[in-house]
Amino acid sequence: MIKARRRFGQNFLTEKATILRIIESLAISSQDSVIEIGPGKGALTEKLVESRCNLSLIEIDRDLVGSLKKKYQGISIVNEDVLKVDFSALFGGEPKRIIGNLPYNISTPLLFKLSSINESIIDMHVMLQKEVAERIVSGSSRKEYGRLSVSMQLLWEVTNLFDVAPTAFSPQPKVNSSFICLKPKKKINFDRELMNQLLTSAFSARRKTLKNALRNYFNESELRSIEINPGARPENLIPDDFVRCVNFLKEKI
Ligand code: SAM
Repeated sequence: MIKARRRFGQNFLTEKATILRIIESLAISSQDSVIEIGPGKGALTEKLVESRCNLSLIEIDRDLVGSLKKKYQGISIVNEDVLKVDFSALFGGEPKRIIGNLPYNISTPLLFKLSSINESIIDMHVMLQKEVAERIVSGSSRKEYGRLSVSMQLLWEVTNLFDVAPTAFSPQPKVNSSFICLKPKKKINFDRELMNQLLTSAFSARRKTLKNALRNYFNESELRSIEINPGARPENLIPDDFVRCVNFLKEKI
């Protein structure tokens, strides 16, 4: 029997109803190419294999990879840290669906990594700590709204599908979870690098007004010219407001 490793965020799904609800919401067809991140003991993998989709697995834990290989012969398994995986090589030019009950400690860096290649992704269904999911889907002017919300909503249509209680896992995590879906937006009409810089500046000073938080980028009249209230706070701007800011800056540079 393999012991759960806390350092790999191993909380295995055991509740059948939750596993089925996840699988139903994926509606996988045999035509789909799917990457499962962190298959663990295979709670979701088993159902994915049954759907006869083209499946690849990425799992960091060598012991789990050993038993997955025995169980699912013929399925491609990458034994690596997903944060180090070269996804463009793994995708081989074919758009993929991504699914994962993610270890909580790597979920945010992983979402940023996958966001940088979101044009090659059909959709992502991921289990996250509820608090992180709430930040991702939050509307403006709420306490959960910040850099993560804007970065994700600019690139993805985000939907919170359902919450999952700790009792669905073994061992039980200390926090609640949510299962969310992200679908890439078709039109990305801004410079991503500049957007990252601007969002970092804006939200590292979230209590400041915009004229102060973004003083290195804009003066007050410039902000007004793009219909941004210089006295508002970063959390009051919707994602499209940030797009106007970045496009204005791009022309100015
Ligand atoms: N999918 C399984 C389930 O639902 O029961 C396991 C989910 S468990 C929350 C997270 C899984 O991700 C574990 O199997 C863990 O070993 C794996 N994992 C943790 N960190 C990883 C990383 N950096 N790269 C790839 N897999 C990782």
